[in-house]
Amino acid sequence: MSEHSSLSNLLKEERRFTPPAELAANANVTAAAYEQAAADRLSFWAEQAKRLSWETAPTQTLDWSNAPFAKWFADGKLNVAYNCVDRHVENGLGDRVAIHFEGETGDSRSLTYADLQREVSKAANALIELGVRTGDRVAVYMPMIPETVIAMLACARLGAPHSVVFGGFSADALATRIQDADARVVITADGGYRRGKPSALKPAVDEALTKPGTENVRNVLVVRRTGQDVAWTEGRDVWWHDTVERQSEQHTPEAFDAEHPLFILYTSGTTGKPKGILHTTGGYLTQVAYTHHAVFDLKPETDVFWCTADVGWVTGHSYIAYGPLANGATEVLYEGTPDTPHQGRWWEIVQKYGVTILYTAPTAIRACMKWGDDIPAKFDLSSLRVLGSVGEPINPEAWMWYRKHIGADAAPIVDTWWQTETGAMMLSPLPGVTATKPGSAQVPLPGIAATVVDDDAHEVPDGAGGYLVLTEPWPSMLRTIWGDDQRYLDTYWSRFEGKYFAGDGAKKDEDGDIWLLGRVDDVMLVSGHNISTTEVESALVSHPKVAEAAVVGATDPQTTQAICAFVILRGTASADDEGLVDELRAHVAQQLGPIAKPKRIMPVAELPKTRSGKIMRRLLRDVAENRDLGDVSTLTDSSVMDLIQAKLPGASSED
Ligand code: ATP
Ligand code: MG
Repeated sequence: MSEHSSLSNLLKEERRFTPPAELAANANVTAAAYEQAAADRLSFWAEQAKRLSWETAPTQTLDWSNAPFAKWFADGKLNVAYNCVDRHVENGLGDRVAIHFEGETGDSRSLTYADLQREVSKAANALIELGVRTGDRVAVYMPMIPETVIAMLACARLGAPHSVVFGGFSADALATRIQDADARVVITADGGYRRGKPSALKPAVDEALTKPGTENVRNVLVVRRTGQDVAWTEGRDVWWHDTVERQSEQHTPEAFDAEHPLFILYTSGTTGKPKGILHTTGGYLTQVAYTHHAVFDLKPETDVFWCTADVGWVTGHSYIAYGPLANGATEVLYEGTPDTPHQGRWWEIVQKYGVTILYTAPTAIRACMKWGDDIPAKFDLSSLRVLGSVGEPINPEAWMWYRKHIGADAAPIVDTWWQTETGAMMLSPLPGVTATKPGSAQVPLPGIAATVVDDDAHEVPDGAGGYLVLTEPWPSMLRTIWGDDQRYLDTYWSRFEGKYFAGDGAKKDEDGDIWLLGRVDDVMLVSGHNISTTEVESALVSHPKVAEAAVVGATDPQTTQAICAFVILRGTASADDEGLVDELRAHVAQQLGPIAKPKRIMPVAELPKTRSGKIMRRLLRDVAENRDLGDVSTLTDSSVMDLIQAKLPGASSED
């Protein structure tokens, strides 16, 4: 990627935002944390592990003797559910609200830590009655309701690893994941509310369980949420309200080894067949608790935290279920979509609960931008003091909008880079320390070692681009791919000896701050230059007529790859607009240089996205190269691809 440097600083962001003085003065974590961690990384993490309540405190920190199969805190024992629930009640915080649940249809309820302790204990007792034993896998296929978090904690309490499958996935996708993990019980609901209507879940479970390889599922535990009719298999299906409600509210948690499996989570499949990422207990909980405390500056007594991710993604695991609850936080859980029943729904929720910390994704921020500034302006968002972003590189345009229209030009934005595999945040500004730059994840967190290397694994100098790698093991790292150690080695540890390769391209700016450039599979090679899809997309979105853009490189006889852009226009712009495509191409050339000028620009109505909102560029590449589409099972709406394919022939613009 040596040529990266020629382009990499063209989309330069000169602005910097220093932390608000008051936040900096009272910050949970100061610049000293970087020094402490740099002086002795392992004792830094051993210190962070003390945030947890261990039944047996660990004396060992890291065992890397069988690298890259890590063991953290191996001789310690703890129970995750005890850490997330019971200990807060024992500490006199039973009356503190753990979860403010907001249903899509306007119903709401709040659960205190004492409520959560009773509910988790009952659910754990019910799972025991259903024969769930330590080590058994439990699949969870649920809407965003409190029972989902309760179910996860009940599994954790029993040492039964859960595999949460996003409720938007099809029966096939669910079946593959049930088979791969060999689940014994499935926890689901009749349905949940989406876009104002009940959306069924149970039929997909019924269908999944007709597929070969799912025979070991003994029971399906069903929460009644929507009240819709459900098919019933006697002997297999049981209602939550029958089975869980009658259980004892007492359950004594057992402590498990720090390396006991906590959950399996399949990656979202942006780049190919999903991988069952395995996370374990002590190291995972240590890093999610620490990062939630440090990166959001969480003050559990006064903050109201809201992570808008679905619990079916790692963000929901680490920053809805485990991090906030381990820290005794009060958080919001919202069932539905941001535009139901109106496009101000999120801001209404922020106002209602006085949300102080909001954690969301660039795709959602761009949608809100498209809907208009006047919508958030109608609500009181003054409670917000820290804003987070995750999931994709956030383009400077969206970053600035988020800051201005949601954060009142004051709340720091933490752009957090991490993956299902890393389990917790890895790169991010700290809100009380870092002078932030729009669009950059900036620096590794204290205790994390990351850098950017070239093809030969040499660290690149400031101002140059290459591959993002993690150079030291970290507590919440994946331990393997479930059932496939070899794939774990091949996927993450074979590209650069002794280093974890994250799959993402990145650059360092002149200050050494890191900017994510998208997946390396997405980096384009044009006439000998490496060009990042992210940068061309950012340049397109910085044009006033473009709401969203996806860029891919398509094979081209002259230039190796040619840049193809798919753009969604803003409200007033029209695809028939004479000269629009030329105008956009000229804009990119002016922003990034002529080499980055897209060869083709196609206005489209929608882009293919995974259910977590990420653009699936590999499908657009298939389209641009006239190939059959690859696996579309993780796509939100596969008809989007038909629309795009139909548009292809005439829509190009050639030089
Ligand atoms: P798959 O691995 O199956 O292709 P996925 O990578 O989309 O799916 P996740 O683990 O949810 O699944 O996403 C992690 C990826 O998301 C990162 O590797 C990176 O590409 C992107 N990402 C996450 N946060 C950020 C961020 N703050 N800035 C830039 N990219 C980010
Ligand atoms: Mg990935």
